[in-house]
Amino acid sequence: MSYQMDFWPEDVVPGRLTWSVTRDKRMRTCLRRYYLHHYASRGGGNVKTADRETRELYVLKHLRNRYMWVGEIVHEMIELALTAVRRGDSVPVEQLAERGTRRMRAQYSESIQGMYRENPVLKYAFFEHEYREEVSREEWRLQRDRMEACLRTFEGLPLVEAIRSTPPFRWLALESAASFELESATIVVKPDFAYRDTDERVVLVDWKTGKPRLDDEKLQLAVYAAYAKRAWGVADVTRALLVYLETNDVVEIQLSEADLEWGESQVRESVKQMRELSAGEPTIERFPMTDDVTRCGLCSFKRVCHR
Ligand code: SF4
Repeated sequence: MSYQMDFWPEDVVPGRLTWSVTRDKRMRTCLRRYYLHHYASRGGGNVKTADRETRELYVLKHLRNRYMWVGEIVHEMIELALTAVRRGDSVPVEQLAERGTRRMRAQYSESIQGMYRENPVLKYAFFEHEYREEVSREEWRLQRDRMEACLRTFEGLPLVEAIRSTPPFRWLALESAASFELESATIVVKPDFAYRDTDERVVLVDWKTGKPRLDDEKLQLAVYAAYAKRAWGVADVTRALLVYLETNDVVEIQLSEADLEWGESQVRESVKQMRELSAGEPTIERFPMTDDVTRCGLCSFKRVCHR
């Protein structure tokens, strides 16, 4: 899926459900994790009023791992490169990689000093540091190299050349957070990039730094296409390009009306389940641990979960 973090506060509108593919995935991965992230950590952002346990959960839910890190930096640098293109400028890939490297160093340094304990929203927090995992310098360096390799692939893509020659007024989205309403819930989307091609079709572009996860990707693209239809008046079919920057593969998917209907039905079902889970006062008993222990390895809550 497109790199998508929780970029909105939990309680934007109290009592109103904010749905995203990320939240849905969290619920499907482990109900206990979902509970700790969305309910038990509530109020942990206020250091003055939060109790120790709530604050701890709040800090833990902001942890990232080194694999996610590469995706975040690559998306940030691509956004920077395309923002420059939009104003008629360009950033050489060497400069992008250099800037990405500086950012990674700064975030690594913040995390290893534990600055996130004071401010987990603004300071980078690595799972590996919090859990004192043994990670060699080579392994950290490898993540920086992956970042640079992804940016170099991006730079050489024919798609990027096509984007450069597309007038900015045909660009529709660039890492733009947006939302639409479905089932009285706010459905949050953040397409990496979207534009109108020369055949007047909307093209959704998703930059990938990880391996293909087709189930997640299918739902995410269907939800983005549902948004595209509402926001940009898309005709029958939306094109979606999944760009795997590590392997230099571009997969094109055509999203039909039937795909959109499928996506919306999945969202409706998910919203219904989230509402059932949160009815009344959500208590931990309603949210069992997953039986699949392979999901626990990189779970931010494993210390407090006691699995
Ligand atoms: S450690 Fe495992 S069981 Fe516990 S919350 Fe995380 S994923 Fe769920």
